[in-house]
Amino acid sequence: MPKWIFVTGGVLSGLGKGLVSASVSKLLQLYDKDIIPQKCDGYLNVDPGTMNPQEHGEVFVLEDGTEVDMDFGHYKRFLDVDSTGKWNLTSGKVFKQVIEKERKGEYLGKTVQMVPHVTDQIKETWRENLEESGADIIVVEIGGTVGDMENQFYLEAARQIRSNLPEEDTYLIHTTLVPYLETTGEQKTKPTQHSVKDLRELGLEPDMIVGRSEESLEDDVKEKISLFCDVPTENVVSDPNLETIYELPIVFENQDVGEVISKKLNMDNRKKNLREWQNRIENLQKESISRIALCGKYTEMDDSYASVEEALRHSAAEIGGSVKVEQVDTEEFDKKSLQGFDGVIIPGGFGSRGVQGKIEAIRHCRKEDIPLLGICYGMQLMVVEFARDVLDMDAGSEELEDDFEHLVIKQMQDQKQVEKMGGTMRLGSYTAKLKGEVSEIYGSEEVVERHRHRFELNPDYEDRLEAEGLKVSGRNPETGLAEFVEIDRKTFFIGTQAHPEFNSSLENPNPLYHEFLKSTL
Ligand code: GLN
Repeated sequence: MPKWIFVTGGVLSGLGKGLVSASVSKLLQLYDKDIIPQKCDGYLNVDPGTMNPQEHGEVFVLEDGTEVDMDFGHYKRFLDVDSTGKWNLTSGKVFKQVIEKERKGEYLGKTVQMVPHVTDQIKETWRENLEESGADIIVVEIGGTVGDMENQFYLEAARQIRSNLPEEDTYLIHTTLVPYLETTGEQKTKPTQHSVKDLRELGLEPDMIVGRSEESLEDDVKEKISLFCDVPTENVVSDPNLETIYELPIVFENQDVGEVISKKLNMDNRKKNLREWQNRIENLQKESISRIALCGKYTEMDDSYASVEEALRHSAAEIGGSVKVEQVDTEEFDKKSLQGFDGVIIPGGFGSRGVQGKIEAIRHCRKEDIPLLGICYGMQLMVVEFARDVLDMDAGSEELEDDFEHLVIKQMQDQKQVEKMGGTMRLGSYTAKLKGEVSEIYGSEEVVERHRHRFELNPDYEDRLEAEGLKVSGRNPETGLAEFVEIDRKTFFIGTQAHPEFNSSLENPNPLYHEFLKSTL
């Protein structure tokens, strides 16, 4: 029988339930189990594709083209699991399905209600995902905080699953905050006690409590939580601040989290260990081998380019050190902004804000022979910069809605008819046929990477760009769309229309990022 693990949160949002889910899953993978993650979000957007990444964090793109919550980035980076779009439930998606069924008459004669119709829809989706994947364990992370209005029906669905299945088939991990009160010098457990009470009111008993805190939980704090929340002391787990997120499975391992869970779930002994994982983390704790500028638009506390930063870390860990990734705001860009950096990345983006600074950064790298990797919008702007400076054109991208004489980047033909905004970009995995340096980097004549864009290199300008040295070295075999561009020079200068950062994990770094980082050493 497959096992069900639910991960809920209390006290505050943003405690890192996604990392808890990914870390627990990592430990359970050691038992040679296939695991599928599910993320349930309370918001009414069908997917996060229409949300501002500066508010909600990066939009992660799956192979099947679904735009999903950034927690799926953690699942990929920790577990190397390629999720499908159906594994991200949002209230928008669930309600849409229920309303479509109602219009079709599938509930004929019934009053359609939150319970049982919405909860049934959720349970059905979880079950289908489990069946289709053939996984041994499903880890369901319920977004938001217990007590929120918008995730109540996910929690009720979890309760129903738990009450229908034998004890040894389900597990509930509740993540809460354990604040440190400076005036008394103590870690306080009351918020945890209250949030467990809220959970109980919904008919859910936690099996394990993960306490998010600045420092590890003191023994007496663990005991107090154990007593008040009615779980054994070994089921109260510390989740302290860490230098790198990848340490969390190790921190859990040191508290026997895998053992504790597997015992209740009646699982066999474990088959693998965390040695390789540990080696890579030790590298990430070493000195920085390279300093990389990530040139984008920023607000404070920004997760917009999380996957790009992590992909660089994966490569650094493989090379044997850490990497310093610094955010350079291109809205306030001047020549000095890039001083002291070993390499530059221009990440994906939309709209005109900060574009001038990005173009200046690209020019600086091209002229000063600094390694440069352009991702999606970054690649498009590499083309614009080259056309302006080398071909001496009044060149631009159609996206900038300016009166350029030469639109070297134009909207893709099939994007012109698009009226709805959600899920309508060119999304997901596409193959590129490769030549030149990229082909050497990938060690293959073709590669599949993920995409998220509406604009492309205008083929009318390819000959002129190539004649001056900006070569198209990767191309979609069906449409001819330019997927990679490069300048043949000693230092790395490559742009891609794709987002290879979505295809990178700690144990399996992406080749393009890896080669870029190596070129900066
Ligand atoms: N705005 C550009 C486009 O839509 C690039 C998108 C991106 O960088 N993800 O084509």
